[in-house]
Amino acid sequence: MMSILRSPQALQLTLALIKPDAVAHPLILEAVHQQILSNKFLIVRTRELLWRKEDCRRFYREHEGRFFYQRLVEFMASGPIRAYILAHKDAIGLWRTLMGPTRVFRARHTAPDSIRGSFGLTDTRNTTHGSDSEASASREIAAFFPDFSEQRWYEEEEPWLRH
Ligand code: ADP
Repeated sequence: MMSILRSPQALQLTLALIKPDAVAHPLILEAVHQQILSNKFLIVRTRELLWRKEDCRRFYREHEGRFFYQRLVEFMASGPIRAYILAHKDAIGLWRTLMGPTRVFRARHTAPDSIRGSFGLTDTRNTTHGSDSEASASREIAAFFPDFSEQRWYEEEEPWLRH
């Protein structure tokens, strides 16, 4: 992967998804969106889309063979999802903290106010996704926003946000 040239103070980008369980429920969708706004993320791009099963399989290929893989693929293709490119000084870490742990029992008990702790239904239907590293953020942003150029954003839009 080509490395992105940007200033040391530049904002970080992440890919956030609101999964079908939450998009289907207007109050939960609104609550998650409010978390994005109240934590002062910049919404760089957003779109709502329906995923085909083959897209889900590709996105979650690292989990192929795990017992929940088929269930995860079916779930992610079961209804619309909302995708965001979010910018923040610590976009990846902050979004993952706001989401809470992957598994719902753990989320409810260790981070009850997190998004998954509040709204997660099961270990699979757990409301949101967030990239876990800069490399996966770049890969995932490209998967959902193929026309978006991270390099161009860092050159042409991002510097103005810090003035
Ligand atoms: P995260 O989404 O927190 O980064 P993973 O990358 O490990 O977690 O898993 C991807 C997704 O697969 C999870 O968000 C969840 O929907 C599903 N998943 C993970 N672990 C389990 C599990 N033990 N049982 C059921 N579904 C799971």
